[in-house]
Amino acid sequence: SKKTKPVTKLKTKDEYTQVYPQPLMAFSELRDIYGISGRMATNLKEQGYKIPTEVQMGSLPLLLGPQTALGTSTAESVGKIAGVDLLAVAPTGSGKTLAFLIPLVNQIMQKRRTEKDKEEHSLQAVIIAPTKELASQIVNEAKKLSLGTGVKVVGMRKGLKIIGTTGAETGSGHDESSEEEDEEEELSKKLVQGVAKTDILVTTPGLLLSALSSSKPGEHHPLPTVQTLVLDEADVLLDPLFRDQTLGIWDACTNTDLRVTLWSATMGSNIEALASSTIHSRRTKLEIQDDS
Ligand code: ADP
Ligand code: MG
Repeated sequence: SKKTKPVTKLKTKDEYTQVYPQPLMAFSELRDIYGISGRMATNLKEQGYKIPTEVQMGSLPLLLGPQTALGTSTAESVGKIAGVDLLAVAPTGSGKTLAFLIPLVNQIMQKRRTEKDKEEHSLQAVIIAPTKELASQIVNEAKKLSLGTGVKVVGMRKGLKIIGTTGAETGSGHDESSEEEDEEEELSKKLVQGVAKTDILVTTPGLLLSALSSSKPGEHHPLPTVQTLVLDEADVLLDPLFRDQTLGIWDACTNTDLRVTLWSATMGSNIEALASSTIHSRRTKLEIQDDS
């Protein structure tokens, strides 16, 4: 039987340095220590980033590890941080976007290197933000970061079909649709041709969830290829207004090795408890499914 991964709580600075790698002190370390691609490093340089913000210092070594972080952490700590889920709380304007984008783009590039078909864009990561404005800011930043890397980023919009997930294509329910709806669907297909295949999808919860809804109420098409789920403004995404939608998408990400990272400016309404209990109950559920 498998063990549920414990949530590590760190109390003192000493405990922290025993378990986690050293904080990132300069963006140059991303290339020198963590081995991000030259192209990504150039993209960062061109935007003028030199000194990481505090949240970047702390989270980037965690999310970029463990293989590449060997130089700065012990063997034991590597085991502990492998595939880590993360809840990061840092003020507005502290650069959380870059903190979750750098590891994503890096991870997808590494995976791409080992794949035969370089043009295959199966959905690797979903980033959820509470508003369309925030989502489009994330898309812009992600595009600047992934320029020339081969990593594709798409912002979700109505009618967009998500292709490249294994299994059936997903989209708005079409099982019992009328001719008129079929026509509409054809139209939206044409509008989005060629853009729906993506590595990274940035979306509001509602837009993605309606694209995933199946003909059975309450059931959703799964997103089995997704490796990482990012909840930006997680306090908002987990508050009563969005919680069901957010957890619906979380549920649709059926990969047992799914990594979830949550980013917030405030601890909000019990976000920590909710985040860790959700992560735990999810893991347990998946483990039960695995064994059956
Ligand atoms: P948050 O999501 O934490 O509110 P953002 O990710 O929106 O913050 O970043 C706020 C601004 O700071 C953006 O314009 C971003 O480009 C910039 N920024 C991010 N990281 C750095 C850095 N290390 N040095 C300078 N500016 C940065
Ligand atoms: Mg933000």
